[in-house]
Amino acid sequence: MRFDVITLFPDWFEPHRTSGIARRAYDSGALDVKLWPLRDHADDAYRRVDDRPFGGGPGMVMLVEPLQRALAAVRADRADARGPVVHFSPAGRPLTQAIVQEFAAGDGAVLLCARYEGVDQRFIDAEVDLELSIGDYVLSGGEIPALVLLDAVARLLPGVLSEPSHQDESFSHGLLEGPHYSRPEVLASADGTAAVPKVLLSGHHGQIAQWRREQALRTTALRRPDLIARARAQGLLEAADEAYLRSLDI
Ligand code: SAH
Repeated sequence: MRFDVITLFPDWFEPHRTSGIARRAYDSGALDVKLWPLRDHADDAYRRVDDRPFGGGPGMVMLVEPLQRALAAVRADRADARGPVVHFSPAGRPLTQAIVQEFAAGDGAVLLCARYEGVDQRFIDAEVDLELSIGDYVLSGGEIPALVLLDAVARLLPGVLSEPSHQDESFSHGLLEGPHYSRPEVLASADGTAAVPKVLLSGHHGQIAQWRREQALRTTALRRPDLIARARAQGLLEAADEAYLRSLDI
């Protein structure tokens, strides 16, 4: 899977290549990321890629022409890789795990990381297939959103996680995941002791699975009732789930 990233800050991507889980995706060749420094496609001695906005106002706008040249270079190099041209923007579609899963099953994409006030709209209208937002706040550029997408996709690629934990983690069944515990079984502290829930030590796989499902329902109902409503609308809740939710006094 190949991603081509057009950016003014290619250095930001290096730490991701070389650490943690994502590194396995790069090292195994499952994920290939090629960086395209936008300044290489400027056409003047100052390597200028931005200018003042027509109509006035603060900040600068990313120029169409360097972006067109960069995209043409990417397309020439990406001849047989398909996938959309993605622009990150607070006005984009909110990124979800469902979208991440679509990317993980796809051929990659061209990721445009904007800076300043944003990109001249004519480039977006002509070239961009998909705009994505990573949340309702404003960052200084599209590099972190691009890394968010690359990281979320990398961990879904085959062979990257030793056990495919993503099959039951948050969002995969429309719910958040419940709590985790590890050693010691009883933790002593100044205010007393805290024990691990007994069922997790019972060895009963059926009971453990049921407890985890209930904890996922409880956490989601408490923190994100909107996700419960969505899971219900998508038919993801069984009768036993509904009975458990009714038993909660929320
Ligand atoms: N003037 C813009 C914000 C510019 S921030 C506005 O008011 O919407 C600079 C760039 O950072 C944006 O063009 C976008 O590419 C990126 N960016 C900032 N916040 C983002 C977010 N929440 N999701 C995705 N991209 C974002």
